Amino acid sequence: MASTTLRLPGLGWALLSLLLAALFSSCCLASASPVMNGPPTTWLSAPVPAEDTAQLRVFLPSPEARDQFLWRLAGAGVSADLTTLGFCSSRCVDLLVPEVDRQAVEAALPADAVLRTAERNLGGRLRAERDRLAGDAHRTDFSGVTRASDFFEDFRTYAQIEAFMDSLLAAYPEALSGFVSGRTFEGRPIRSMVLSVGGNSTVVDAGRRSIHLQAGQHAREWLSPPTLLYILSGFLEETSGSANLPLRDLLSQFDIYITPVVNVDGYLHTWKGDRLWRKNRRVNSGSNFLGVDLNRNWGPNSTWCTEGSSTFPGSDVYCGTEAFSEPETQAMSQLLDSLPNVALAIDYHTYGPMILYPLQHTYDPAEGDDAAHFDHLATVMADAIRAVHGQEYEPMPGSQLYPHSGGLIDYAYYTRRIPAFTVELRGDGFIVPPSNILESGEENYRGLIDILPLL
Ligand SMILES: [Zn+2]
Repeated sequence: MASTTLRLPGLGWALLSLLLAALFSSCCLASASPVMNGPPTTWLSAPVPAEDTAQLRVFLPSPEARDQFLWRLAGAGVSADLTTLGFCSSRCVDLLVPEVDRQAVEAALPADAVLRTAERNLGGRLRAERDRLAGDAHRTDFSGVTRASDFFEDFRTYAQIEAFMDSLLAAYPEALSGFVSGRTFEGRPIRSMVLSVGGNSTVVDAGRRSIHLQAGQHAREWLSPPTLLYILSGFLEETSGSANLPLRDLLSQFDIYITPVVNVDGYLHTWKGDRLWRKNRRVNSGSNFLGVDLNRNWGPNSTWCTEGSSTFPGSDVYCGTEAFSEPETQAMSQLLDSLPNVALAIDYHTYGPMILYPLQHTYDPAEGDDAAHFDHLATVMADAIRAVHGQEYEPMPGSQLYPHSGGLIDYAYYTRRIPAFTVELRGDGFIVPPSNILESGEENYRGLIDILPLL
């Protein structure tokens, strides 16, 4: 199925887009100057991969070498479909490379770089996923709401996710309440829930502290919604009745606000064939390119669109027209703003695995003892995660991956001065085997529980 994003044919698109951004954007003029601060931000939205598109992983000796390589590549006359898929670490980048661009990538590599082919045929991997899911996409009669439910056996459509949420709400009417936290650009409700273990979830208890958990800001990151639902399912299962009294005592200190799919429009779009779509589905006035990167659209105004962002609507990191221009980020920030005694915020993404903490828009550390405290919490979380399946999650300030503004965690830090994490879940890409769902859920369930006593 063809991408709905308008794409201009021919070579040199990346170069042209750099030029456009430099002409029309003060933010990207700064990025395009010889004094580089991070990688280029003008890559086009990830396309529907062609049959011969490979996913390459490139390891470089330093963050600077990684960014210089990408800048060289951006000016190398490559096709419109070559794009940055994600950053696997501060010294590593994954690229989507059509066969026609393979030579250009190899020519731009420094001598001390290491190139690995992660997937020779990404189009084939995508097709296999689609074929596997096709037979199961309309079923909503899952086997219960516990962590053993067959809901967690594979990735689910948004209708299936809603059905599972409805089943959870019906099964635990006292501890769990649902509400609509806002509407998407296309007018769909953004569904949230609040978990009040041992309390009444329909009443705000000022004596409790609040936790904000969200997933699915980026449409293609299919592992994040089921991971968050697995954590919720586990909390409910373990604390109903007197099953697990220590956990019940721990969780009863908090009201936990949970939004499993923030970017509903984008998530639905990825199920229509445009599997690597990242942004929301904003129609950008004056442009044929759709979508704003919600994870570049958060305030505060003083940092919005200053780093790792683009003012070019075709970019996958397009920051929008102003901070909180998007209804999805408005909904989530207003929810966070409304919470009493908020103690923690986590935004689940894929992939890393990494645990990013503030600050991420600048290399400056968070104030005073905050940076050390956040690093300690992230390390405790990483240790707990590793103990479950041996998976390494690397803790670091978000800026160490590359400086980028407009995410939840800096906003949460600047407005509430709380620990806030972007948890980049496991996997080597966005299309991963479904066995990762249970493993991701199990390890992040443990990772979250272990930091709660430290808040
Ligand atoms: Zn993401």
